[in-house]
Amino acid sequence: MGTEGITLWLTGLSGAGKTTIAVKVAEQLRAAGRPCCILDGDRLRQDLCKDLGFSDTDRAENMRRTATVAALMADAGLTVIVALISPFQDGREAARASIGADRFLEIHIDAPLAVVERRDVKGLYQKARNGQLSQVTGIDSPYEAPLAPALRIQTEHETPEQSVARVMTLLLNNG
Ligand code: ADP
Repeated sequence: MGTEGITLWLTGLSGAGKTTIAVKVAEQLRAAGRPCCILDGDRLRQDLCKDLGFSDTDRAENMRRTATVAALMADAGLTVIVALISPFQDGREAARASIGADRFLEIHIDAPLAVVERRDVKGLYQKARNGQLSQVTGIDSPYEAPLAPALRIQTEHETPEQSVARVMTLLLNNG
């Protein structure tokens, strides 16, 4: 693995496994002495993006800010792991352009709605079904799956450890 900055952009429904995989990948990178950081959507919404809601416009702005920070961190030589639902194809393409296509790896953390609803890690889907929450991706807000991701991980069929190993292999093969 080299030391040039690169961004792993993990996209997928809430509860698909983005944060779980991001944290474990970061652990492995740190253990290997490779500087990295995680840009997690939930975390960014506590500060940098706390003025944003969940409308299409706000989600696009959320992606834009995240991509901007990722590009700066990649410039500094970090391996950046973005864990963001990032539901829109054009927003992710804008992120690729802003960060640079040669250092942007799109990874679809894929799990069917039925599976993420069963997991309901944050209780969002229950709230959405009860009518207590709107604009939930997959329920009443769209998710556009990547057409040609560098990697697609179907988390219903493998353990987090297996998923992490596949991300690490991708990274090894791409600098
Ligand atoms: P997200 O960040 O996408 O909202 P989380 O990582 O918070 O999702 O939650 C994903 C859940 O799915 C966790 O409870 C995790 O243990 C579980 N899970 C099952 N298999 C996998 C896998 N292969 N990769 C990642 N998470 C998985």
